[in-house]
Amino acid sequence: MSSRARICPHSGANRVGKYLYGLPDDMIELQRDLDAGLIVLGGCTVIDKSPQFHCNSCDHDWGIAEICDQTKQGGTDCLQPVSRNDKR
Ligand SMILES: [Zn+2]
Repeated sequence: MSSRARICPHSGANRVGKYLYGLPDDMIELQRDLDAGLIVLGGCTVIDKSPQFHCNSCDHDWGIAEICDQTKQGGTDCLQPVSRNDKR
């Protein structure tokens, strides 16, 4: 198992959360990660420059969030959390 910890490029802190866009389908599971600061809710709308990570220590945002196809096309609600690895 390699390290899962991410480091903030700004402060070097390891209290880093990942932005989650779209509507999560398991809020109970998610709440634990929210409380732990592992997940930051980014809302349903993802724009071009939406960040991917958030530092809980210095509030620095960085990275580029993946954008789901529906959101890209400006279409219907984005119901899927963006966690795909396929790049097409
Ligand atoms: Zn930081």
